[in-house]
Amino acid sequence: MACKIPYFLNPYEKSVNFTNFWGSNKQLLSKKSFSDSTTAQKIRKAIKFWQDNTCITFKENGPDNHFLNFYKGSGCWSYIGNVSSFTQQDISIGAGCEQVGIIEHEIGHALGFFHTQSRVDRDSFVKIDTSNIDSEMLDNFDKESPSTNDNFGLEYDYGSVMHYSENAFALDENKPVMTSLTSKLYQKTMGNRVEPSFTDVLMMNKLYQCQDKCASSTFKCNNQGFNNPSNCNKCVCPGGFGGENCGYRKLASNGSTTCGENLQASTEWKSLDRTVGNDRYEVTDEVSTCHWFLIAPVGKHIEIKVDYLGRICSSGCFYGGTEFKLGNFTKTGYRMCCKADYENLPTMTSQNHLAIISLYTIYYNQQFQIKYRYID
Ligand SMILES: [Zn+2]
Repeated sequence: MACKIPYFLNPYEKSVNFTNFWGSNKQLLSKKSFSDSTTAQKIRKAIKFWQDNTCITFKENGPDNHFLNFYKGSGCWSYIGNVSSFTQQDISIGAGCEQVGIIEHEIGHALGFFHTQSRVDRDSFVKIDTSNIDSEMLDNFDKESPSTNDNFGLEYDYGSVMHYSENAFALDENKPVMTSLTSKLYQKTMGNRVEPSFTDVLMMNKLYQCQDKCASSTFKCNNQGFNNPSNCNKCVCPGGFGGENCGYRKLASNGSTTCGENLQASTEWKSLDRTVGNDRYEVTDEVSTCHWFLIAPVGKHIEIKVDYLGRICSSGCFYGGTEFKLGNFTKTGYRMCCKADYENLPTMTSQNHLAIISLYTIYYNQQFQIKYRYID
């Protein structure tokens, strides 16, 4: 049974007309004003994500000279970058925002990120149907200019944690506000709030020039992973890749050795039916993820026919989904979570001899059923 679950989407975000960074020591001070300790725990997890994957550090309950004040305001919002005129810079984690991925998004703003669909190059990637947006809300879709937006040469990523979902601010929720101009299979990739994407993490590291820290490291990362500035002898890997140096398939996030496999394709169709998650209707702080590598002989291509996707349907595959990476492994692939979203479930072909499938969930469970083979 499929069920649609709406989620709360940042309607109160403010933006300032300049972007600034935090101190040259790259340390943000934060102060929690939560009596609700479960939310405080989630905030600490979100802070830890950025801290563990960049050179930025946070100090809880530091001195009162310009600090980030997490508080339970109205909605989820943040200022963009360091607003130096404040002593106390508020970041609101209101009702419905108490989720690690949403908090990671808000911290992304506080660190200097705009929304992805505000990128200066967004008109090459999404079409925005302004007739389906309340005129008072239109400024949420403002586009930045070359002087206000630097993407450090990184490609547009539909799966960025800073991207809105396809029907954010829609007057008619059954019609998309944003349509991908490059593939309709990216429609549900937009709106990720599970955790920041590889591109998000790389861009944050570029914004804060974190990579200088590991410039002389001899520890090498494969598959376009990069040295983790919080520990140069570790790598930050594109999704699906893991091991010490991103050279292998990443193991299941829950430590399971049976979830996720390397599978050799043949010229005959083979079936694959997998589920990840549990039977509890509650959002978890930890993402359960497993990855499958479908491998063809070099020079051949993987063909995938999707037979089923479920069980939780959500806008932006907010609670979980299946991701298919068929070419560029550094960018988020096609994310799908619900059979009912498709008139016909897709058949897709990889650009080279490897296809990566990632199945992830933060709520109940998620399943895919596919057939795969290799073709010329
Ligand atoms: Zn936002």
